[in-house]
Amino acid sequence: MERVYIEKQKELKIYGDYDVVVVGGGTAGVFAAISAAEQGKKTLIVEQFGALGGSATVGLVCPLMHSGVAGNPYNSYLSSRVAEKLIELGATKEPHEKNPRTFDPRVLNIILEQMVVDAGVNVLMHTYFCDSIVEDGTVKGIIIENKAGRQVITGKVFIDCTGDGDLCVRSGANYTQGNPETGKNQPISLRYVLSGINYDRFSEYLRELIEKTGIHYGTDPNCCYAACSMRAEFTVSSLFDEAIKNGDLEEQDKWYWQIFQIPGRPDSMAFNCPEFFDKIDGTNPEHLTFTQLDGKRRIMKHLKFYKKYFRGFEDAYISDIAGIVGIRESRNIETEYVITAADMIRHKKFADAYAQSNYPIDVHGKILQCDDIDAIEDDGRPYYEIPYSTIVVKGFNNLLVAGRCIGAEFYAQASIRVQESVRASGEAAGIAAAMAIDENVALRDLDGKKVRAKMEELGAEFAK
Ligand SMILES: Cc1cc2nc3c(=O)[nH]c(=O)nc-3n(C[C@H](O)[C@H](O)[C@H](O)COP(=O)(O)OP(=O)(O)OC[C@H]3O[C@@H](n4cnc5c(N)ncnc54)[C@H](O)[C@@H]3O)c2cc1C
Repeated sequence: MERVYIEKQKELKIYGDYDVVVVGGGTAGVFAAISAAEQGKKTLIVEQFGALGGSATVGLVCPLMHSGVAGNPYNSYLSSRVAEKLIELGATKEPHEKNPRTFDPRVLNIILEQMVVDAGVNVLMHTYFCDSIVEDGTVKGIIIENKAGRQVITGKVFIDCTGDGDLCVRSGANYTQGNPETGKNQPISLRYVLSGINYDRFSEYLRELIEKTGIHYGTDPNCCYAACSMRAEFTVSSLFDEAIKNGDLEEQDKWYWQIFQIPGRPDSMAFNCPEFFDKIDGTNPEHLTFTQLDGKRRIMKHLKFYKKYFRGFEDAYISDIAGIVGIRESRNIETEYVITAADMIRHKKFADAYAQSNYPIDVHGKILQCDDIDAIEDDGRPYYEIPYSTIVVKGFNNLLVAGRCIGAEFYAQASIRVQESVRASGEAAGIAAAMAIDENVALRDLDGKKVRAKMEELGAEFAK
């Protein structure tokens, strides 16, 4: 029998009262808070860590994936502002069709925090969201916990940007989690950065490897890009095989491995691994703990492998390890509309779309899945759109969700989860929150077309 303890009732102090309360100051949360504050709303971000930016900064997820839409328009006026600042500071250098892809995560963190301060957002870091106070479908307040104790924050509109939908779930919203066939979540990773790498030697080494193996797949010596997975034979696959045979790596180290240069750091590379295929529930603290502990053991093994097998890594050392486990997918909240993989593959359009994308359905695994829908509709615009209704939490008057946990079924989530779409969801949520307050309407009654129009008025770009 499960052992329990009944917590005593106690009086909680009210920390403050806000127009808009954003829970989670990550990729979506920062965009939500700035856009709400810039619409003149008294806004607060509650963040558990001592830094803003979430997966993109603390999690070291530094490449920004291309949306796959021609010209890669920013569906977010704030994204353009961030790009300008990154370019100015030399922290990105790949103006990929106007959209810088790789960036320095530490510099992005500083830029985002400065933008939040400049917008007049109130920030409460080192504070964990614990619970929600709901009356008749309206969130009245949230309960937080930090070194000052347990307190209550009240507000008019609440935006869940926790990535895992913590606020929605504690408020009683419905949600789904994991692959409907297996129940399993997407694999998770603990990202890291190595420094002390000689780019020239490594790029020459990659060129030689391509010549020797005759395999070019997943490698670009010009920017030292390299990858390996079980999907195909990569240029570096044979090195991994040799290391596994010699006991220098484990088989799981080959299942997903990927590296990127970091602009502005001439000797550093960001690693999108080690990846984990078991114990991968991002809402299970024991799984998260295991990933941090075992991830670091595996990172040390990786370092020894590079030093022995990769030319250019002789002096490499670990300069950063993500403080937040890399969660690709956990819970997805039931919203007024739940986007599906079929919507994406069929390039469905919505009048109230806040984002456009043709990023693939990117399910990690030993073998890539989802090739069962082939009825593509050709309207001359090869991308799908994400409507406002995917961020309006079903059954609530004043609760929005933004980020990777919006209303999306499993395979659809595997596409909407990339940063450009996530940023746009935050920006749309912040603007919608401000509009709903001004119009004094429930979020489900707000016209999403007006949200999109406001985003465009402020500078967000959309393919026509
Ligand atoms: C390993 C990995 C690789 C990826 N690769 C790419 C890529 O190459 N390109 C790309 O564009 N996208 C990539 N993605 C996807 C993308 O980075 C994420 O989907 C996106 O950043 C998620 O944004 P979010 O705002 O939903 O969550 P996050 O950015 O994770 O933000 C959530 C925030 O909420 C806070 N929080 C959570 N719970 C609480 C609580 N209870 N109380 C207080 N605060 C809380 C967290 O600390 C965090 O700051 C990758 C993701 C992962 C995990």
